[in-house]
Amino acid sequence: MSHTHTKSTNIHWHQGAFSRDERWKALSAKGATLWFTGLSASGKSTIASALEQTLINAGLNSYRLDGDNIRFGLNKNLGFSAEDRAENIRRIGEVAKLFADSGCIALTSFISPYRKDRDLCRELHEKDKAGAIPFLEVYCDTPIDICEQRDPKGLYKKARAGELKGFTGIDDPYEAPQNPELVLKPATMSVDDCVRACLDLLRAKGVISG
Ligand code: ADP
Repeated sequence: MSHTHTKSTNIHWHQGAFSRDERWKALSAKGATLWFTGLSASGKSTIASALEQTLINAGLNSYRLDGDNIRFGLNKNLGFSAEDRAENIRRIGEVAKLFADSGCIALTSFISPYRKDRDLCRELHEKDKAGAIPFLEVYCDTPIDICEQRDPKGLYKKARAGELKGFTGIDDPYEAPQNPELVLKPATMSVDDCVRACLDLLRAKGVISG
């Protein structure tokens, strides 16, 4: 049985005392999800961490959901088969949406190689029954040879040696976004440049001001 099958019955959505607008207004906050996608070592975690620091220092609530960290906890029961990868991303999409709904700027850094899985997360946000929540796809477009040179976790080396099967970019595909809200080029842009571009996007979408 697929992970996404709804097993629960007799469940009802509890509305709570606040609408999302009331909550965001009371907290002077606006939520959104910035969805970083790209090859391993393309810079997702580095840029998301620097952005999180900048937002927090400016007094804005932001929280990073990071690939490996989530696999230590929430998704510890998932592997790297196509079905498990899809379920990994679906759960992250749902969690990011809850963070964003609470008024937080959620930053997700997952390879998320399959377009279909990312599109599902976009749909979760944009078709929410209480109204659309901004879902901003940020493509870290770093050529694979640069990723492989950087290889901070030694994963490309392992994949090339045949010790790691189904590695994105080597023997598993990466499907680049067709219409991302932002394309970063971390091979030629500094981390600061990338953070500035993300802040500009958040301003342009009305998530942050100033
Ligand atoms: P990912 O999260 O996509 O797997 P990481 O952020 O973990 O990637 O690794 C990217 C590596 O590239 C890090 O070692 C980082 O220091 C390095 N790096 C060098 N220049 C940049 C840049 N402009 N943006 C992001 N990372 C960079």
